[in-house]
Amino acid sequence: MAYLVCKKCAGYYELREGESPKDFDKCQCGGSLRYVETINVKKFGLSSKNMIRISGVLFGASIILIPYYLFSPIPSSASFVLNHIDSFILWSTGGFAAALIAGGKIINGASNGLYSAIISGLIVIIIFYLLLVNSFNNPSFTDNIAFFAALSVIYILIPAIFSIIGGLIGISIRKGLNKLI
Ligand SMILES: [Zn+2]
Repeated sequence: MAYLVCKKCAGYYELREGESPKDFDKCQCGGSLRYVETINVKKFGLSSKNMIRISGVLFGASIILIPYYLFSPIPSSASFVLNHIDSFILWSTGGFAAALIAGGKIINGASNGLYSAIISGLIVIIIFYLLLVNSFNNPSFTDNIAFFAALSVIYILIPAIFSIIGGLIGISIRKGLNKLI
């Protein structure tokens, strides 16, 4: 069995007897084709599943970032998000959305919620650090670690608690819907 695999969309075409790879110029999507002797179909199935999971986690992360946009006028006041109950609701919603899109097992609902919180938290910390680095007096390596650890509690750990709970609710609802259908 021989196949042509698209380098762009990962679509593949099984060559029939008498067909030559030279008969095919490009994939329907315009991507160039690669000739392979064997193909691992399962691998392609897994990768599209991972793509859905990644999209779910990124979508969840963008929802988790909304409270910073709403309640933190400048990065140094980013902890203002903790004064608004809407932040906790949006953090839970982020985990909920990530789990609902990504699917998987119950434990995946919790971990996808956690990944969303980690990604959004790291974005906030990096922005915070880049904008404030000039106001620090030659921070040493240990200063940086301490700074990162302190901010991780506020911007990763606390949102993560809510997004994990949201993720567990999201995956439970998704499982419930799957049973109904
Ligand atoms: Zn293609």
